[in-house]
Amino acid sequence: MSTALEHDGRSAHAAGPTWAEVDLAAFRRNVAEVRRRLPARSRLVAVLKADGYGHGAVELARCCDPGDVAMIATARLVEALALREAGIVLPILNLGVLNDDQIVEAVQHEITIGIVGPDDLERAARVARASERELVVHLKLDSGMGRMGVIEPELPRVVDILRGAPALRVDALYTHFANASDPADPFTAVQIASFDRLVVALRDAGISPAIHHLANSAALMRGLVRPGDYVRAGIVLYGSEPLEAGASRLEPILRWRTEIVRLKDLPAGRPVGYGGTFRTARPSRIATLPVGYADGYDRRLSNRAEVLVRGRRAPVVGRVSMDLTTIDVTDVPGVTTGDEVVLIGRQEGDEISAEELAARSETISYEVFCRISARVPRVYK
Ligand SMILES: *Cc1c(COP(=O)(O)O)cnc(C)c1O
Repeated sequence: MSTALEHDGRSAHAAGPTWAEVDLAAFRRNVAEVRRRLPARSRLVAVLKADGYGHGAVELARCCDPGDVAMIATARLVEALALREAGIVLPILNLGVLNDDQIVEAVQHEITIGIVGPDDLERAARVARASERELVVHLKLDSGMGRMGVIEPELPRVVDILRGAPALRVDALYTHFANASDPADPFTAVQIASFDRLVVALRDAGISPAIHHLANSAALMRGLVRPGDYVRAGIVLYGSEPLEAGASRLEPILRWRTEIVRLKDLPAGRPVGYGGTFRTARPSRIATLPVGYADGYDRRLSNRAEVLVRGRRAPVVGRVSMDLTTIDVTDVPGVTTGDEVVLIGRQEGDEISAEELAARSETISYEVFCRISARVPRVYK
């Protein structure tokens, strides 16, 4: 894959020895696996917000075949516009709240607007009246998340606004689950029931778009998708398991690797790194990696994470600093400067998953991916 080692026109080697490889073929297989799980007439909305959860939205969007993917979802208008600028013609649903100017720009670029309440609906109605162009929206209902979406007492105002704005076209109603990844939590069923109640109330008022979408990745994997509904799936496309006991055929698509740039033998009793939080208990071989929290390798991984070197696990020792991390390779035979070190992904028979790093840094795989910073080149194969 050396021919693919390019980043912003530079070779990855010019950028340094740290990069994240993204396997586009594995992404396509994940899309196929998701499709396989969709009920009849259901369609996938590929959630590529936050630059495709840090994997690179443009490259992933280019892998989205219109036969597989109905829409791409973004969170910010800039994300949607970046896809349009890159020539992506698939329908795009932008989930985030937009101001008047942004609504105009969204319409110009044929970006469907997620509406989350009466105020932004009002803004969209105003823009639609002024521009005399049809403005396509998906209307979000709050079924219990308590965050975005229309709540029941707001329905009369929402209906009024829609009646006064014939140029506003509501293509879909949607909602978002708060805890679908926990099958033991009855709240997801409560949310489905309250979504249905809001849908009926709107239908009685003459508003009945054909498309509904409720499910995220976890709900999809639990089989909660109803025939014909769209599914907004993100994390599964990146191969991360949204359920504790998942046994799917999803594949991680990102491999974050670096190399040993400095290797030294220290006697017993020597501190390593800021604060001296690690002290060698024996004569130790300490390797330094050119990666730190500025690259998105969380500082909470200090003295907690493991990496792969020569197919073996080696512990992170001392504090993760801004640009550097130290590991103990005393027990890895034959280590030399320049050896590949895997932070996330496979090496020989072992694997460090994003979930493992997430658990060790008290977060979720989503954040682990999103935090891999722009300083780390993404390399596509
Ligand atoms: C991010 C997001 C999703 C995707 O969630 P996953 O758990 O990654 O599948 C779906 N819907 C909304 C509204 C989101 O913000």
